[in-house]
Amino acid sequence: MERIFAPWRIRYVLAPKPKDCIFCSAMKGNEKEMLVVYKAKNSFVIMNKNPYNPGHVMVCPKRHVPSTEELNDEEILELMTLVNLSMKAIRLSMNPEGFNVGINLGAVAGAGIEGHLHVHVVPRWKGDTSFMPVLADVQIVPQALEESYEKIREAFESLFRK
Ligand SMILES: [Zn+2]
Repeated sequence: MERIFAPWRIRYVLAPKPKDCIFCSAMKGNEKEMLVVYKAKNSFVIMNKNPYNPGHVMVCPKRHVPSTEELNDEEILELMTLVNLSMKAIRLSMNPEGFNVGINLGAVAGAGIEGHLHVHVVPRWKGDTSFMPVLADVQIVPQALEESYEKIREAFESLFRK
């Protein structure tokens, strides 16, 4: 498996884990502050604050469940629809050449937040494994995060204007 070198993630790995579920609190909080890109009936899209690449979003059900096995058909359909819409929005705003879309179930499989299911949508560009560390200066990342948030949010809005 190809791995993306994302050295800035060490801040996340070493940070103490918050007690409250970040997805549940993000859902209740201010959308812009929480970097929530889009909310649907049963699920929502949020930026990953410790991204593997710019534009890395996560699609989560609103219910705090650990696995797709616990979703009903309506929730599964909406979750996957939001994965597709996220890719469309990222294509419109950031022009990636590919995506990694995936779910880690359980800590042993790499899930950072075990209790609340989330689907990673990571845009990929040719050569991103080598240029990302250069862009990954700790000072730059928060700004890049806000910029990606605005771009993707606008793209989401434009998808619904059509
Ligand atoms: Zn939760």
